[in-house]
Amino acid sequence: MDFDRCDLCGAHATDFILSTPRLEGPLVRCRECSLYFVSVNGAKTEASDLMDRLSERALELDLVDPNVEQRERPWRELAARERVEDLLRFVKGGKLLEVGSSTGELLLAAQGYFDILGIEADRASSDVARNRGVDCLTGSIPELQIDRGPFDVIALYHTIEHVPSPRKVLTEAHRLLKHDGCLVLETPKIDNVWFRVLGPRWRQFIPDHRYFFSKETILRLLRESGFEVKDMRSVGKAMSARLFASRLGRYHRGLGHVVTRASYRLGIEDRTLRLNLGDVMRVYARK
Ligand SMILES: [Zn+2]
Repeated sequence: MDFDRCDLCGAHATDFILSTPRLEGPLVRCRECSLYFVSVNGAKTEASDLMDRLSERALELDLVDPNVEQRERPWRELAARERVEDLLRFVKGGKLLEVGSSTGELLLAAQGYFDILGIEADRASSDVARNRGVDCLTGSIPELQIDRGPFDVIALYHTIEHVPSPRKVLTEAHRLLKHDGCLVLETPKIDNVWFRVLGPRWRQFIPDHRYFFSKETILRLLRESGFEVKDMRSVGKAMSARLFASRLGRYHRGLGHVVTRASYRLGIEDRTLRLNLGDVMRVYARK
């Protein structure tokens, strides 16, 4: 496998940008098309082993607090409902496939409107989704041959930055969509002020992120995969004040602790915040 080949344009020439223990390898930028990606050398690992290793790394690096994550479930459900409401502006119903469906919050929120199916590479997460009654397969596309299409909607919320080849996933998504079907994709956006100012401490640098798109590179990949972009915006999401304080620790550990203590003292840790930091983009496209 060729790890330094650019997935977007096929070139082999990259510039080194930065290195941080939060990523699995050095961050490089393609000299031809400016796609940012993590240069991962080494043996191919089984997807499930990789997931275990990455979640351990996230804990080691203190990027994720399991207690905080556990208590965040109501806000994850709220964020999922808000994503579905937004999606309904573009499609009213039909068959929906979510690639990277995690523990199933989005699918649960969508099932009142759509016939749902999820795909999730992490076995533990897809088991949780199935236990909640969500129709979900363990694996990844294109390895998993999906024969339940064509779909009216394919959703990739924070998935494309994790996969070995975004181009292969979008090509397969295109094949699985109905004519005029809708693709919705959400991913970190690297052309933003936080990356420029904070460099390696930008919050989106975490061990299982491999690709970082700009507006330009994601538009090119979508166009070349056969999609016509209809809408593109930077979006925030609902979260608790508790999670916000914990995430601040990614920028500055001391600040994270101070804000966490303050939020508990003020009794506002369960308040809902909606922050749009401008570093996440949501795109709707048609086949
Ligand atoms: Zn390139």
